[in-house]
Parts: sequence; C-alpha cells; structure tokens
Amino acid sequence: MDAKTTAGSRYQTLFDPLRLGPVTAPNRFYQVPHCSGMGHALPRTLAAMRGMKAEGGWGVVCTEYCSIHPSSDDQPYPFAALWDDGDVANLAAMAQQVHAHGALAGVELWHGGSYVPNLASRLPSIGVRSMPSREEPVQSQRMDRSDIRAFRQWHLAAAWRARQAGFDIVYVYPTHGYLMWEFLSRSRNDRSDEYGGSLVNRARLLRELLEDTRAAVGDRCAIAVRFSADGHGDEHLSASEAHDLIGMLDDLPDLWDLVVGDYYGEEMATSRFVREGSLEERIAQVKRLTRKPVVSVGRFTSPDNMVRQLRNGILDLIGAARPSIADPFLPAKIRDGRLEEIRECIGCNVCYASNYRGAALRCTQNPTIGEEWRRGWHPERVPPGKGGSVLIVGAGPAGLEAALILGKRGYTVTLADSASEPGGRVTLESRLPGLAEWARVRDYRLTQLRAMPQVSMYLGNRLAAAEVREFDADHVLIATGARWRRDGLGRWHSRSIAALPAAGVLTPDDIMHGARPAGEVTIFDDDHYYMAPVIAVLLARAGARVTYVTTTGSAAEWSHYTGEQERTQAQLLELGVEIRVSTALESFDGAAVTLGCVYSGRKWQQSAATVVLVTSREPREELYRELVGEEPAVPALKIQRIGDCRQPALIAHAVYSGHKAARELDAEHQAPPAGRDRSVIHGN
Ligand code: ADP
Ligand code: SF4
Repeated sequence: MDAKTTAGSRYQTLFDPLRLGPVTAPNRFYQVPHCSGMGHALPRTLAAMRGMKAEGGWGVVCTEYCSIHPSSDDQPYPFAALWDDGDVANLAAMAQQVHAHGALAGVELWHGGSYVPNLASRLPSIGVRSMPSREEPVQSQRMDRSDIRAFRQWHLAAAWRARQAGFDIVYVYPTHGYLMWEFLSRSRNDRSDEYGGSLVNRARLLRELLEDTRAAVGDRCAIAVRFSADGHGDEHLSASEAHDLIGMLDDLPDLWDLVVGDYYGEEMATSRFVREGSLEERIAQVKRLTRKPVVSVGRFTSPDNMVRQLRNGILDLIGAARPSIADPFLPAKIRDGRLEEIRECIGCNVCYASNYRGAALRCTQNPTIGEEWRRGWHPERVPPGKGGSVLIVGAGPAGLEAALILGKRGYTVTLADSASEPGGRVTLESRLPGLAEWARVRDYRLTQLRAMPQVSMYLGNRLAAAEVREFDADHVLIATGARWRRDGLGRWHSRSIAALPAAGVLTPDDIMHGARPAGEVTIFDDDHYYMAPVIAVLLARAGARVTYVTTTGSAAEWSHYTGEQERTQAQLLELGVEIRVSTALESFDGAAVTLGCVYSGRKWQQSAATVVLVTSREPREELYRELVGEEPAVPALKIQRIGDCRQPALIAHAVYSGHKAARELDAEHQAPPAGRDRSVIHGN
C-alpha cells in the first residue's frame, strides 16, 4: 500500500461531508473566524487569502469579526463590515473565491457593544449599561428598549446582506467581551427589565437574534453560534450557566463553534504557555449537552490527533485559525498523503500581532500569507527559474527558506554554514524555555531540502570572501545573520555604555551557546519582546537570583501584541524574578549595576555579578562588505544580503526575506509590480 492510500484510509473520516442545517460542509476542515489585518479596508487581499484556504482544501472558510453597523467600529483594528451594498459587493468577492473551490463561506456577524470606541464613525457606542470602552477614555450609552429594537433590526439587515453576498453560514456571536456577552454577564447586566436578572432574561436578546436570523436566512444559510464552553468567569457567566444556556438554545443553531472563557491566557495562547489540543476536556463536556455539530480549535497540526477528536466524539469539525494560516494546504496534504510537507504552526502569534498593529496578516512559517493578491504568491507553487547555480552562506531561517524556494525553482543550490548543525538562530532559540515548537521552522524546510538532489548542504565551514569568489556561483545570497550587541547600545542608549568590564557582561548569544551565570544576575531588556524574559526564566530556574530591568512600564511590553505580556510577567513573578519597570541599566562595574528611573533620572546601585544585555543586534555583514565593498557600484543582484544580516528582525522577517529573494531571483524585470488594495476615485 503506498503512502497515499495509507493516509487516505487512515484519515478518511476527516474527508466525510457533514450536513449543517440547509448546507453541507464538504469535509471536516473548518477555518474558524480569525482576524486578518485586512477587514473591510483590503477586500481584494482578503478575498484572495480566504480563497487560497479553500483551494488548499478547507471545507469551510469564515471571515473575521464582521461589523453589522457603524455603531460597532473597532478602528484602528481592521474589522470586516456588512454595513451597505459596497460591503456586500466586497465580501461577495470573498464568498465567490471560497465557492470556486467547493468550500462553504461563513461570516461572523459582530457588534462590539461597549468594547469599541467608534473612533471613525463617531457614533456613541451602545451597551447593556454605560461602561468604559476597552482602551479609550469613553463610555457607552445604556441601551433602552428602542435601542434594543434598533439593534435587532441592524442584525437582521446584516444577515440579509450576508445572504446576498453569498455566505452559507451566518454567525450569532455572544462571546469575547462584545455586546451579546455584556447582556449575558451577571455583573455587567444590571437591568431590571425582561433583559436582565435570570439567565433566561439575560439570554433573551441572544434567543431573539437567533430566532430573527433563522427566520430571515435559515432556509438558505446555516446558523452558527460562537460560544464559550466554560462560560465567561463566575462573575459574568459561570460554566454551569453556559451549559444550561446551550441546553436552552440548542434547537436554534445548526452548529456550535466552541471557545473557552480565557481568550488571551488560553484560547489564543502561544506555544510558550499552552500545548496543542488544550481545550479538549471542556469541549467534550459540552459536546454531551448538544444534539448539534460542534467545531472547536486547539492549534491542531497532527492529523492523528484530528482523527482522534472525531472518532472520540469530541468534535465534528476540526476548527483552525493559526494552522490554516501557517499552511493553507494542510487538508490537501493530508488527503494526498504528503504529511511531511505540512508546514506546522509554531504557536508564536506573530499573525495576531500583525492584526493588532493594523497590518495585513503575516506568519513566521508561511511567508506567502497576505501576499496572494498583492504579489500573486501561491504557498505551494513557485515559477521556474532560469537555471544556474546559487551559493547561500548561512543556513538560518532566511538561508533555509531561500534554498527551498530556489531548489523548487530548479536551481543548483549550495547551502553552507559555519555551524555544525543547520537552523541558525532557530536552532539556538528553540532550546530556550518554551520555544521548542519554533524548531518547526527549521525542520519543515530541512525535510524538504533533504529530498532535493539539486540542493547540497555544507556544514562546519566558515566561508571567507576568497572562497565565495572561488566558488564562482551564478548568484550568491549572504544570510549570515546578526549578533547581539555587547555594549548596551539600543533604544535607550544611543551610544555604548561606558567602561563596561570584559568579564561579567553577557549577551543572549552567550546564553544560547551555554553560558549559565549563577548568583546575582541583572538582565537589561531594551528589546521588549521574548528574548529577555525567556533568559530570565532559564537562569532563575537554574538557581540564579535574577533582576529583570526594562525601560518600559511592564515586562516584555511588545508581547502585548502577541497576547503574551500578562503570562510573561506572571511567570517571572512566580519564579521570584525581581521586576524593575521604567528603569534603565546605566552602568556596571563588575560588582554592582547602576540603575536609573527613566522618568525622574533618580539613580541607585544594586549588587550584580553578571549583566545580560538584551538591547539590539548588529548585522553580521562582514562577508557581504568584503565581497561588495562599502557601496556596491551596481545594485548587487548577483550578491544579495537576506534575513537578519540585512535587517535584524523577527524570524518571520528572515523567512520572508529569504522567500522573496529566492522567488524573485532572475525575475526582477518580469515580476509584476505589487498591487495596492485601496479604493481609487474615478472621474475627477
Ligand atoms: P537569519 O535569521 O537571517 O537566517 P541566522 O542568524 O539564523 O540568520 O543564521 C545565520 C547563519 O549564518 C548562522 O547559522 C551562522 O553560523 C552562519 N554564518 C555566519 N557567518 C558565516 C560564514 N562566514 N560562513 C558560513 N556560515 C556563516
Ligand atoms: Fe502559527 Fe506563528 Fe504563523 Fe501565527 S504566525 S500561524 S502562530 S506560525
């Protein structure tokens, strides 16, 4: 039996169709609603990205949160909208691209309630009572009965527009802190009318929405409810109330899309803190309470685990957001028995951060996501190249990705690295606490490369310029990475910290190569992401007395965007790490550090035997400079820098940089210009 047939039979259950009310999902792969950083502003980008998932075999592909009315405006965060006919036309483009591959299209109708500030629409936000918005210094208007009637009309009109746009599944969305969540909340909902008090009353509006939606579009569209399997915390909606509610409403939806109450801490948590399939127990409890199909998520990338979820009756559909971003072709690869080609999500939440920053989706593992329309990139297909040889120096994420794409394009590739094992920073960083899954960035690429006769790898060889020239390749890509600075220069110190001693000053590179300082260690975090906290965890667990110093107001402030900040700070506190926020490391004399308040300038000393400086990185571009000089006379297309040696940044940037250079090699004059998705004024 060949691999294809084996996989085909073992995983067949994942490919069985499933009836959802009036529609049928062609298989069990369900892309649940997830943010894309595109929303209503980038409709072509969105349609192409969602369409690509359908092409890759996802049987259901949903939108992100889709506003029903301008009183639910989440600017500056990119939300979808169904406010008018223009939105219908734009989202119809998405539905068409999803339908073109035989998949169902779903839309998550949404009203943000008090949560949203309506920065753009300038309408008052509405809530079950007047409450502050999540971030802005504004409060909502308490809804009276006429507001409730108006809200039901808006929802109904949006459901009609969803049907008009061609959607097959329409969501009612009472969770994640938005308007319907407020009504369900025991503490937020203080109403004395028929919408407040008992669970039946607090759920009245949800019931009415479900009935309205079913009556309006239920003959043509399945109705889904996205709901928390364990409630929203006892002060809002306890687990037993959530279970009662599912029983009370079970006749109305065609599908339950189940999440859990702790969004940042668990549902959306990174692999640093939460393993694959962590919601299982709570979902299984709810599954016993409903007669309707259930979908839920768990960062599933293992087909065996997926099959187990179906066979054990925990799920009817395998929900995925991140795994479908990392590999839009995950279902097709399982179907075709190409399991080793699955590009597994590493659970880093860089995708989530891009949405949070208002930029179109990006992903550490999948450099093509978000580029389907703008650059015409396909995650599985690359154009053939002109042929010839390419030398890549550096087998980190940039070099590995470039080698893979160039190999696929038919080039003869030599990938050299001075280290004895490939992977560069990925190999080193994946050994730090909680980052083991990051090794998937290396392993996915290595597995493919090892099967490519046109790619050879030379490890343990430091190349100098003479050797590179001698190699006489048609193209050279320099992917030599970056090193952490040893002098403290970074955001806070625009010059090196004066008079640092040679001993007792370490960088993340030293730690990753095995340095384990004991005693009193001060870690200076001017980077604000994961590196300093994971080093603090490593050293504290090894017994060092760690002080974590950062210039910002909280530990690892940027990791707020990946949803990790709170768990990071909690983890440091649990390990007994002393946290000094709004503080800079001013100097170190080998026995004590001088720390300074970033606001008042007040300075004080604290004993420390070692400092670890996590400030900024210096591109390792010596080889590139030796080859091209200070100012390359011609733009050096024959010799290019890629990845961290060009621009020290996230692993996602390095992969993207390697991918782009490899995809565009020899195609620089034919490559179509990148598209810009925007509305253009005609006729002026
Ligand atoms: P990126 O993130 O850009 O891919 P990394 O730092 O992960 O960069 O990887 C760079 C790799 O380049 C490291 O594995 C390093 O050992 C290798 N390297 C650096 N200089 C040389 C050189 N002169 N010859 C061969 N390999 C090198
Ligand atoms: Fe997964 Fe990270 Fe890609 Fe998001 S960015 S899909 S978490 S690999």
